Amino acid sequence: MSDKDFLQLVSTSGRPSAFDYDLSDWKAWCIANKLPRFVAGQIYCWIFQKNTCSPEKFSNIPLSIRETLIREFSWDLPIVDSRLVSLDTSEKFLLKTHDGHLYEMVLMPYDNRATLCISSQIGCKMGCTFCQTGKMGLTRNLTSGEILGQILLANISMAANGSDKTVSNIVFMGMGEPLDNFDHVVKACSVMIDPIGFGLSKSRVTVSTSGLIPEIQKLGEVLPVRLAISLHNADEVKRSAMMPVNRKYSLAELKKVLLTYPAPARTGITFEYVMIEGENDSIADAKKLVKFLHGIKAKVNLIPINRFPGIEMEASSAERIRAFQEYLSHRDIPAPVRYSRGQDISGGCGQLAAKRKEELDVDPRLIHQTRRKHKRESISEGVRGI
Ligand code: SF4
Repeated sequence: MSDKDFLQLVSTSGRPSAFDYDLSDWKAWCIANKLPRFVAGQIYCWIFQKNTCSPEKFSNIPLSIRETLIREFSWDLPIVDSRLVSLDTSEKFLLKTHDGHLYEMVLMPYDNRATLCISSQIGCKMGCTFCQTGKMGLTRNLTSGEILGQILLANISMAANGSDKTVSNIVFMGMGEPLDNFDHVVKACSVMIDPIGFGLSKSRVTVSTSGLIPEIQKLGEVLPVRLAISLHNADEVKRSAMMPVNRKYSLAELKKVLLTYPAPARTGITFEYVMIEGENDSIADAKKLVKFLHGIKAKVNLIPINRFPGIEMEASSAERIRAFQEYLSHRDIPAPVRYSRGQDISGGCGQLAAKRKEELDVDPRLIHQTRRKHKRESISEGVRGI
């Protein structure tokens, strides 16, 4: 727990967050406080298995220990700045850290499961040209507790709304490059897949990266959860222009590491491919993509770009997306088209927090005009879900 982000959090609230502690941290705390080690497992289960964030409810733990827990730790969940429900039932939460930074998560309930798209950083330093979070730059990493706090909050929110579901699938596709916050993300993932933590299967936790090669390799060694690659172009020069990370870690090197990643044989690796008119959506682009994927068990999600203020790019037309999709599927590469859920509530990565940040920074009259314009546009276009 020597990370500077954690120290920053401690100094802000005055106490460490209980959600930053994993089982080994609780064991160390019990030893330091001369308590039996099994108490560590009890505390850990109350938090992550039972989603109980108030020590006063830890009924099998003696009162004196509960009082110490209340005194020594912060038990605050992320602050909900606002919550928007989309026409497609996804819920977008704009959250605030206890030192005042905005980030977001999107909860997508389905009939038989609930997927949570979570953030790993405040902003992002990777600078992808098509991404609103990339335009914000990086403010700081989220701690493992702030990452896990999103799941706790989602589960508590679903229960409060009368649902018997809990989060069953996690995707790191909110704000941030998760592998740029490697230690906190791995610590959080370990709690997600721990049978006495959140108890999710490894195949239901997906880390999505822009392609940080050393960290992909490390992830495969320490905690091989599912991997998604934000690819978006299979041409070295064009990808470098869209995604600065490609100038450091080329497609050729990326492919080498992906060929050795221990991905599940059934599902392989998912590739995210945002469809941008005239940029990466031609048949020539599809050919390069097929060549890049040769030898990798792959699925490609085709995602028409979500427009946001200040971006010139347009989503590919339905015809171009269909032709691109057919080219891939005729070569045995599944390529579903994914419309970002919650487009009517700024469902794309970082859009809500970026919009709110803009609101805090710009003339309120301009916001009002922009909102009216967007409202008119979304009414005339209709809203589509996955
Ligand atoms: S696409 Fe992902 S890696 Fe790129 S700037 Fe956005 S959040 Fe960062």
